[in-house]
Amino acid sequence: MTAYLFEPAPPTSLQIEGDRRRFPVHRVYCVARNYAAHAREMGRDPEREPPFFFSKPADAVVPGGGRIPYPGATGELHHEVELVVALGSGGADVAAHDALGLVHGYAVGVDLTRRDLQSEAKAAGRPWDTAKGFDRSAPVGVLAPAARVGHPRAGSIALDVNGEPRQRGDLAEMIWSVPEVIAHLSHFYRLAPGDLIFTGTPAGVSALAPGDRVDACIADLPSLDLAIT
Ligand code: MN
Repeated sequence: MTAYLFEPAPPTSLQIEGDRRRFPVHRVYCVARNYAAHAREMGRDPEREPPFFFSKPADAVVPGGGRIPYPGATGELHHEVELVVALGSGGADVAAHDALGLVHGYAVGVDLTRRDLQSEAKAAGRPWDTAKGFDRSAPVGVLAPAARVGHPRAGSIALDVNGEPRQRGDLAEMIWSVPEVIAHLSHFYRLAPGDLIFTGTPAGVSALAPGDRVDACIADLPSLDLAIT
């Protein structure tokens, strides 16, 4: 048995609907600008670019959401509601027509973003890590198995703050579909069981403040609620 200098951190894990076992998180990948209206609100032409990716640490995931302290080092914390794909198996150079075979299920996630730091990073040509990969930046709801919900290609994706609508879209508006996202991503990384993929956000991103209540809903997936404290 291996002796460690200190106890390794336990894996981050998600509750699975209808399953007493939990889903252990391996890596967290994110797609940028995957809805045309959001790409436009960020000042980009959505039609020209192949998908590109960034990542968050696995321990940035907040299983089930709940109370999230307003993070330091920002005055512009933004919400991005996203369909999260949870992989039950992996592979490299996966063909799009095989990609859904890797998916265990789907969840609602919020890609919390320090927009001010991201804007500075973009302007300076620097990495996005401090803007995207900070502690508690990836709340994710209960995982719904594809065996129950299928592979949603359309359906509403919405986020409210204090009961007011902020983000409204439809999964059918994704520029790159879930199978295409998995195929592209698998050319850059060998995907593994436990990987999560945030698939991009529709238009309407905006700033959060301490005291805000956030309700995120996608089609008939379990919803995700946050309280920014
Ligand atoms: Mn995002």
